Amino acid sequence: MAWIVNHAQDEVLCFDTSFLLLVQAVHARCPTVRKWIALCDADKLPADSGIPNLLSYEAWISDQSDRYEWPSFDENAASSMCYTSGTTGKPKAALYSHRSTLLHAYASALPDVMRLSARDSVLPVVPMFHVNAWGIPYSAALTGCKLVFPGPALDGKSVYELIESEGVTFAAGVPTVWQMLLGHLQANDLKFSKLDRTVIGGAACPPAMLRAFKDQYGVQVLHGWGMTEMSPLGTLCTLKNKQLSLPNEAQLSILAKQGRAIFGVDMRIVDGKGQELPWDGKTYGDLLVKGPWVVKEYFQGEGGNPLVEGWFPTGDVATIDADGYLQITDRSKDVIKSGGEWISSIDIENIAVAHPAVAMAACIGVAHPKWDERPIVVVAKKPNTEVTKEELLQFYEGKTAKWQIPDDVVFVEAIPLGATGKILKTRLRKQLKGYVLPTAATTDRSNA
Ligand code: AMP
Repeated sequence: MAWIVNHAQDEVLCFDTSFLLLVQAVHARCPTVRKWIALCDADKLPADSGIPNLLSYEAWISDQSDRYEWPSFDENAASSMCYTSGTTGKPKAALYSHRSTLLHAYASALPDVMRLSARDSVLPVVPMFHVNAWGIPYSAALTGCKLVFPGPALDGKSVYELIESEGVTFAAGVPTVWQMLLGHLQANDLKFSKLDRTVIGGAACPPAMLRAFKDQYGVQVLHGWGMTEMSPLGTLCTLKNKQLSLPNEAQLSILAKQGRAIFGVDMRIVDGKGQELPWDGKTYGDLLVKGPWVVKEYFQGEGGNPLVEGWFPTGDVATIDADGYLQITDRSKDVIKSGGEWISSIDIENIAVAHPAVAMAACIGVAHPKWDERPIVVVAKKPNTEVTKEELLQFYEGKTAKWQIPDDVVFVEAIPLGATGKILKTRLRKQLKGYVLPTAATTDRSNA
């Protein structure tokens, strides 16, 4: 946090009082901050906090007018800035303008995107620092829907109770948070009374999760892909008219993809030499994007000009099919390069989480003398369930090519998650630094 505050040169920092301990821990390392604003009434301001220049929000605004005349200014003026999740390196800062934010808000409310309306009650279970809660505070205001915020309790029980008590019709979240919600529903035999649809993104939505929402709870999953650098929406998955008569399974395999580009976003996939690759749903390449809400550079020009002939390189590897549906193979830093072939860590994780005893799974590559890298899968089990390493490896048989089956399963109590709820593979790799592949498994796979 201190690193981000210093990098952004924040001058005023507003915080919910639930974060008081955190602010007490970091304030001394944030010399640019002139005012610390606790979001509370003056009489709720914590006494003896040790934080200099601490004010309550209500006291701070008390002698201001209750009217605000919106000024006229350049639409390209900066409006907000967010940092990337930093799952593969240091967070990077994306600065948004009023123009990009407004265009993104219009586009994200469209019928084939979030389909927001004044009849919705919307719950973003994504923090505001994660790409402005995916732009929902803007698109909700634009459409006039009811907006519900979850506060710090993101466990399955709290989120479920909030969805029910606030009549939430539309919710947005990353897969790890939804995993906790589904776990709570399944363990307590519950149903949703009003929830109609949910956007799942930020990381790949496992097909098993899509199926559970759709088949067990009648909730439409809108699988979306985006990035902090894209405000964040790039694609969202909904069916086309011609696909409505397809059988359920065929529809599910389309809906498991990350979806079609939202109007305003252009995308292409290229090979290592920058040559454009075909949209055939098979050929994978580096994904490039451009559009009015895609950044052209990072804050303060850091890292130089990232654009490749005007296109922003996403760092993701993907396929696009003839109907324009994007499927993310992996982040290029996470893809496992085994014997000259690529293995998608997302595919390996999706199979593991389809096993009834698996709560969360993360696939990483480990060094191998012959194949460069081999995949292993790190697994956290659901409470009160059992699965052995052999059973889980057996579960992969027939679901993926033999040579892509992980060489080992490592069981852990919990998988490390970042603040945005994404699996922190950098930390996992550090935790497993001294890990050595089991010789037997290595030999088996090389023979296969
Ligand atoms: P961030 O800006 O930190 O949220 O990270 C953006 C990255 O998250 C993207 O470049 C993707 O690697 C990943 N991501 C986001 N949505 C998805 C998705 N639906 N499937 C797979 N990866 C995703």
